[in-house]
Amino acid sequence: MIESVLIANRGEIAVRIVRACRELGIRSVAVYSEVDRHAPHVLLADDAYLIGPAPSAESYLRVDRLLEVAREAGVEAVHPGYGFLAERAPFAAAVERAGFIFVGPTADTISAMGDKTEARQRMQEAGVPIVPGTTEPLRDADEATEVARDMGFPVLLKAAAGGGGKGMRVVHTADELPRALDAARREAAGAFGDDSVYVEKYLDRPRHIEIQLLGDTHGNVVHLGERECSIQRRHQKLIEEAPSAALDSQLRAAMGEAAVRAAKAVNYRSAGTVEFLFQDGEFFFLEMNTRIQVEHPVTEFVTGIDLVQWQLRIASGEALAFTQDEIQTRGHSIECRITSEMPEEGFLPSTGRIGYLEVPTGPGVRWDGGISEGFEVGLHYDPLLAKLIVYAPTRKAAIARMARALDELTIDGVETCRDFHRRVMGEADYQAGDVTIRYLEQHPEITEAGREEGRPDRRTVAALAALLEVERRGSIRPPRIGTSAADRAPSAWQMAGGLRRLGG
Ligand code: ADP
Repeated sequence: MIESVLIANRGEIAVRIVRACRELGIRSVAVYSEVDRHAPHVLLADDAYLIGPAPSAESYLRVDRLLEVAREAGVEAVHPGYGFLAERAPFAAAVERAGFIFVGPTADTISAMGDKTEARQRMQEAGVPIVPGTTEPLRDADEATEVARDMGFPVLLKAAAGGGGKGMRVVHTADELPRALDAARREAAGAFGDDSVYVEKYLDRPRHIEIQLLGDTHGNVVHLGERECSIQRRHQKLIEEAPSAALDSQLRAAMGEAAVRAAKAVNYRSAGTVEFLFQDGEFFFLEMNTRIQVEHPVTEFVTGIDLVQWQLRIASGEALAFTQDEIQTRGHSIECRITSEMPEEGFLPSTGRIGYLEVPTGPGVRWDGGISEGFEVGLHYDPLLAKLIVYAPTRKAAIARMARALDELTIDGVETCRDFHRRVMGEADYQAGDVTIRYLEQHPEITEAGREEGRPDRRTVAALAALLEVERRGSIRPPRIGTSAADRAPSAWQMAGGLRRLGG
């Protein structure tokens, strides 16, 4: 087994990797930017190194600095997490060239899957159904129009180097196409330094369903069932669950087998995910993510397999300890992404210092967080603060459990999407499992409700908190930082949290 790992990431996923390392007896080395000095991943790891100022380009994306730290700390391997450098083939190559193990697939696999047109070609050759469209970048608007006419509008223009929903344009008529193509090219060039764009049929009400894979270095690849990730806004996932209410055992097996074929076609090793769009009983390859995903915990809950530990075991050369037939899923799991965003305000990001944090516990509840009291939430990084994950024997029980857990959650000092998730859990179509990627568009009441509820604004809450504090102590003091909830009396901030909860 590997003895030490550098974690080239921050936030909840860095914490998650530290935990896997600790359980396997691996020494974990964290890195941090100046603003993350007191972040949980830094405090939890065995060792931590400052790598630069807050902007990612000067810290978490500095390959030279990361390798320098890896050498200085004397680690054997580098785990990239997700985001940042996780899917950059040159990073994987640089790590291996410097003599470290990259906890992930090879640079060749990453680059084959990182280019969407190349990935589509490879998948087609491997017999995996792809969304109808081109497998080569478009030459010009004339070619695009011809292809779109053949397929029928609407179509979707996509950046070949795309990610995070950037460089995508839905086009409804031939007239709109030339301008949309220009816009998609500009956005792609800006975001990825590559303006190649291709075209796909735009499906009008698909579900996003993906298959989790594990491959080892001995040629074994297994799938661990699906995740339903249809609840999205602007192509970003918000709620994920396993299993999907849309699949029966036959479809599940067919998608799983297609995903395994996809992985074998690119000699896949480590944890990976094949994403599909699913509509009217048919599934189409969307892309393959060559890393651990944000939503991996729901699969861990229903399979009982620790995916991050397996990434580390595979990187150590271990063979998978289970065959496809031995992987059984049980019960139901749901994850809500707790972000510092305001769904009621068009998902605007919120910033602030976490004053009070009360995390739900109890049966079947898991909290994968990257924040603590006193932590300053800024705008430098992804707004994902934590993930709340539940497990229960049935979907219905899991929804009730998630609602209960969300009610127990208090984060003061920064706005979050907690109430938004709470409304989804109470909504009839969601409860019936009737969801597509258009869910939020079709349920504007969920994002609008927060505005109507007239919950007390932040200033009211702060004023109330100050008043209560004066009453209790006869003076105003800022919220205490860094003590555990167990060893103090309820503070004004806590009461204010309670008040807000009653209000919202
Ligand atoms: P990115 O890599 O930028 O995240 P993806 O190809 O993974 O892009 O697509 C992201 C999301 O965009 C999907 O989850 C889905 O909601 C939507 N999408 C992508 N392709 C299509 C399509 N052909 N038809 C309809 N929606 C699509």
